[in-house]
Amino acid sequence: MHLSAPPARAAGGERIGIVGGGMLGMTLALRLAERGRHVTLIESGSELGGLAAAWQIGEVRWDRHYHVTLASDARLRALLRDLGLESEIRWTLAQTGFYTDGRFYSMNNLVEFLRFPPLGIVDKLRLGLTIAYASRITDPERLESTDVESWLRRLSGNRTFERIWRPLLRAKLGERYRDASAAFIWAIIVRLYAARRAGLGAERFGYVPGGYARIIERFAARLENAGVDTLLGTRVASVRRQEDRIVVETTAGEQTFERVVVTANARIAARLCPQLDDDERSRLDDKVYGGIVCASLVLDRPLGPFYVTNITDEWVPFSAVIDMSAIVERREFGGAALAYLPKYVAPDDALFALDDASIETSFLAALERMYADFSPARVRAFRVSRVREVFALATPGYSKRLPPIATSVPGLYLVTSAHIVNATLNVNQTVGLAERALEIVDAPAPVRR
Ligand SMILES: Cc1cc2nc3c(=O)[nH]c(=O)nc-3n(C[C@H](O)[C@H](O)[C@H](O)COP(=O)(O)OP(=O)(O)OC[C@H]3O[C@@H](n4cnc5c(N)ncnc54)[C@H](O)[C@@H]3O)c2cc1C
Repeated sequence: MHLSAPPARAAGGERIGIVGGGMLGMTLALRLAERGRHVTLIESGSELGGLAAAWQIGEVRWDRHYHVTLASDARLRALLRDLGLESEIRWTLAQTGFYTDGRFYSMNNLVEFLRFPPLGIVDKLRLGLTIAYASRITDPERLESTDVESWLRRLSGNRTFERIWRPLLRAKLGERYRDASAAFIWAIIVRLYAARRAGLGAERFGYVPGGYARIIERFAARLENAGVDTLLGTRVASVRRQEDRIVVETTAGEQTFERVVVTANARIAARLCPQLDDDERSRLDDKVYGGIVCASLVLDRPLGPFYVTNITDEWVPFSAVIDMSAIVERREFGGAALAYLPKYVAPDDALFALDDASIETSFLAALERMYADFSPARVRAFRVSRVREVFALATPGYSKRLPPIATSVPGLYLVTSAHIVNATLNVNQTVGLAERALEIVDAPAPVRR
């Protein structure tokens, strides 16, 4: 890896620059290099991985944001196979719970569901039918014309909407749940039911020993072997066409390519590419992003038995409790336990201005109220990640307002997570997007589509 020298032109190979070294940019870089292109991957961070990167939490090095692989994540598993890691995945079944009216409820089978006190039997029946019905819909585009609230109220009833769906939507989207189409909740239900639909039985959750730190490290080595030049700590300021080349202006000087692919989120892409036409720009700018403030905690032991605890009590300052130790063997954490407390918020939420100490005080006070045997003394390390723009919300008519991949600027391509339609943001979708976009980005002559 180097920071300054411009990439040499490979004999017969075209030079392609990729902006953004997350899983999307890395996958595109690998596939293009395998086709003989000379690829330069430009990442502003000090390491590759983006949202999937790892970091240090006290003594533990693990994912900055919680990540699991599902048994049904076929594209991600194929990539991991390619990296020689798929056979190492450790699989487990995990428990899900609810925290409702100040109590924990296990929610892992029909009996537990039928016992769940906040809903009457008719409500439960309607809730169960909503999920079964949604998981069978195969043409989600028709859901894009209905807002999520009307759809859920109609299918599940008002009481279930107020008691279950609205708190869950608020936990994931804040008040902007009102902007989401029914396709948003459909995508979540389908991801949770993908394994069952594929006939795999209960969904299994997996991780690679060493976590994403190991995946990214192996991936980076693979990119280097494939001849990809990786420029870390290099922020791109603009991407413009000049004569017959695309010029990328970075904090480490200018780079020139035949083609450039921007993989950063839609709003960053709009800022970086001033030559886009008005329609392209508006398709990037109209994306409504959700952000996250995500605390990682190293603890002496797990908080409870559940991998995910969904929270419907709205006084709790975080959206869910994710107990990684329910999936990952504790020896990965040196015998300790690792939990995440994510709070999904709008990019301009006041929480982004709060310092780590204030967040720690408020989050730990809530844990003390929720868990009888929790005390702050059990916390060995606490670290907060903040990302203002994580995912583009599925708003009504979303799939009709996608940004272009091949833009009106010849040689300039946009492949961003905003192109993931009617699905949740996950690495399986990210890898699938990179592989689908490959044919457009690598078409014989730059074409507009
Ligand atoms: C809290 C959370 C939990 C998640 N859980 C799961 C999970 O359990 N399972 C799962 O499969 N997926 C999960 N995901 C989703 C997964 O992380 C994403 O699908 C994936 O990381 C997206 O990769 P990306 O490359 O599209 O975006 P990013 O990772 O955002 O990559 C974009 C890159 O572009 C770089 N960049 C931006 N601007 C510039 C610039 N001007 N110049 C140079 N570089 C720039 C950024 O630094 C970044 O590295 C989770 C995500 C979050 C946030």
